[in-house]
Amino acid sequence: MTTHQDPALSVIDQAVAKAVAASEIWGESTETVRGALLRGLAEALEKNGAELVAIADRESGLGEGRLNGEVARTAFQLRGFADEFESDVPYRRVDDAAVAGAPPVGHPRLTRVKRPLGPVAMFSASNFPFAFSVLGGDTASALAAGCPVVVKAHSGHPDLSRAVYELARRVVAEQQLPEGVLTLVEGASRGAGGYLVQHPGIAAVAFTGSYQGGTALWRLANERPRPIPFFGELGSINPLIALPGALEKDSEALAKTLAGSITLGCGQFCTSPGVVVLLEHSASERFVEQLAAAIRQIKTHRMLTPSMRNGFDDAAVTVARHAQLVFQPEADGDGPAPRLFSVVAEDFIANAHLREEMFGPAALIVKANSVQQISEVLAAIGGTLTTTLWGVDEASDSNRELVRAAEAVSGRVLFAGVPTGVAVCAAQQHGGPWPSSTAPQTTSVGYAAIERFLRPVALQDAPSWWMKDALFNA
Ligand code: NAP
Repeated sequence: MTTHQDPALSVIDQAVAKAVAASEIWGESTETVRGALLRGLAEALEKNGAELVAIADRESGLGEGRLNGEVARTAFQLRGFADEFESDVPYRRVDDAAVAGAPPVGHPRLTRVKRPLGPVAMFSASNFPFAFSVLGGDTASALAAGCPVVVKAHSGHPDLSRAVYELARRVVAEQQLPEGVLTLVEGASRGAGGYLVQHPGIAAVAFTGSYQGGTALWRLANERPRPIPFFGELGSINPLIALPGALEKDSEALAKTLAGSITLGCGQFCTSPGVVVLLEHSASERFVEQLAAAIRQIKTHRMLTPSMRNGFDDAAVTVARHAQLVFQPEADGDGPAPRLFSVVAEDFIANAHLREEMFGPAALIVKANSVQQISEVLAAIGGTLTTTLWGVDEASDSNRELVRAAEAVSGRVLFAGVPTGVAVCAAQQHGGPWPSSTAPQTTSVGYAAIERFLRPVALQDAPSWWMKDALFNA
């Protein structure tokens, strides 16, 4: 084994070697074995929930209520992926019986099956210490697909990562599975993170975090002698368009709902609505006042890490240079003061700085003079996890234009409610065009996430013994 100057690299070598060794046995495991592990992990999380939530709260400051909800969601999705695997949906094979005659009509027998990619390097997110961390959605979907997982712990919650991993390690051992099914790499430097992505034993990467970190690692994945799939969920500004028709009905309630979404978790949600697009109208002006009044009532808590707080302050300073500050109350306790900025659509479209994510309790109001200009605002954003449209209930040409423009840039389009809160179900799509994700044809939330880690293989005229062997998952 190579000796490295950085001890973290040797730890990565060992973890990846274990994952590679576990790959075949886990990839060929039956639905009973895979389901038992995912359910065992869910149970272990729930049993130790109180103790884990206390650690998570100390490290993240997110509060017990939110963290208890996250434990429940994480256990729910582990079980959900077990159900999904057992239902055979991801493995559904396609059989084409041989057809006699000349091509294109005639062809040999072909069977399309799906195979696990192999060991997945999973970079935990900072803002969901359970649901997007050691046993979060990326791990659950990769394990369900039959891929061992090497977790890169997030530096924002190291004790929690270790505690959750210890539980998971015990469950893996109790079920007499190879240790390499799930391994943890802690305290890795930036260089070590890159080393993991470029390790020859790694077959795919799942990442949730910043645009800068994600693109740096995505480049490294693509610069390998044999590039590998990189499923990155990066920054997103989640425009919310509120048309006067919607605001004239009950703007005060809508303002309260939006204020809650902008400040939820101190604005540290990938789906936080960072841009609010309004048409020039008296209802829009009243709505801005109501939004400011509603935000004023909300107390923010401390941000996840000091560097995130610095990042938010810097991003807000940048926006303040190019837009007008509408509202900023006194800072309250440990949390940063929430704030609202405003700019006209022409400036928003012309200035890329205004389209960068402010990860924290802030939003930018963009004032447009027409539906056409709203579409141009969306086109300038280019890629976002979500777009919310309030007030397009009736069929009309202008509403059609807006929905088309929203679909063109978003993974999820909402016609009611707010984008924070991402349901875990089969129809979910969490991943939009670049820069919100590096693989917009896939999702990192919901059961379709399992597909990311499966590779189709067409078996042509395969002998019957292999057809029998090869259906170990059926
Ligand atoms: P991050 O800085 O991108 O870090 C995510 C993970 O990638 C961490 O494990 C980090 O290692 C690693 N990493 C980052 N840059 C790397 C590089 N150049 N080479 C190798 N590894 C690298 O994200 P974060 O710490 O969660 O948050 C920082 C900022 O990201 C936030 O302020 C916010 O702007 C944004 N963010 C966005 C979302 C979203 O969903 N859109 C979610 C979270 C954060 P370390 O643990 O060692 O730092």
